[in-house]
Amino acid sequence: MKILQISFLIFFLFSCNSKTEKPVETPVVNNTPQITVPEFIADSAYAFVKAQCDFGPRVPNSKAHIACGDYLIEKMQSWADTVIVQKGIVIAYDGTKLNFRNIISSFNPQAKTRILLFAHWDTRPWADKDINDKDKPILGADDGGSGVGVLMEIARQLKLNKIEIGVDIAFFDAEDWGKEGGGPESEDSYALGTQYWTKNLHVKDYTANYGILLDMVGAKNAQFRFEGLSYERAGSVVQNVWNTANSLGYSNYFIHQDGGWVTDDHVYVNNIGIPSIDIIHSDLSSRNGFPPHWHTHADNMDVIDANTLRAVGQTLLTVLFREKVSS
Ligand SMILES: [Zn+2]
Repeated sequence: MKILQISFLIFFLFSCNSKTEKPVETPVVNNTPQITVPEFIADSAYAFVKAQCDFGPRVPNSKAHIACGDYLIEKMQSWADTVIVQKGIVIAYDGTKLNFRNIISSFNPQAKTRILLFAHWDTRPWADKDINDKDKPILGADDGGSGVGVLMEIARQLKLNKIEIGVDIAFFDAEDWGKEGGGPESEDSYALGTQYWTKNLHVKDYTANYGILLDMVGAKNAQFRFEGLSYERAGSVVQNVWNTANSLGYSNYFIHQDGGWVTDDHVYVNNIGIPSIDIIHSDLSSRNGFPPHWHTHADNMDVIDANTLRAVGQTLLTVLFREKVSS
């Protein structure tokens, strides 16, 4: 990601909530069958984040990147019904040819009702926000590792617990080799794996009811706010996810507040007509809107907290299992 414009948009939908309406007492007839949502095992997700970091920085064209990609494919093959790997070369803004792999795993591939969950699995080749060793790659425990770790545990749960709807889990590559600082050169320099996928879908005419992107979802006391494009294109999905999180007791993580606009993988998925949201760590106290470890060497396992992984993972599992199959 990552051009952030703090917009201070007022989400007037919320401010328009009428307080004059009296609650109407109606007897509730509950015909909905009891839905059992599997438990998200946070320690397992934590171990998946650590396993990625143990390979080292997952920078395209590096040995660690290849080894970690192999590991992700093997794991997903053990859980999902199908795993499709897209392989190729994309050209970075600085002319570097990046060997990439997009890893797309599916549950119930024939189901019409589909939800797409996605995260980037590569890590940034530089620590441009650090004071030291700016030219060395970051470990990316949070920025890269955390989203994938949460989605791996969701995949493991979907293997253990049958779900009715279709679920696709995409690990997109070559997200973070982008140009810092905005401007025309920076535009479209990130999310190269996702951009490739939107032009070369893994399945002909693929679509999903909606998409959810996870990016930096593992840090201690992380806060997630409404991202601008997510709200504009997929407001009902934002509401559903945030309300579900709140109902599960995760209000400290999922805050009903504007968090500004972020250019991230979800932009391109929205552009092909799949309404998609970005769950991304928002820090209003920093100038760029991201947490202090963002694009620094502090983005290592020390910042990762299993409680945050649980808040995100349990929320997503609940959203998935409450989703109804359309007839
Ligand atoms: Zn990043």
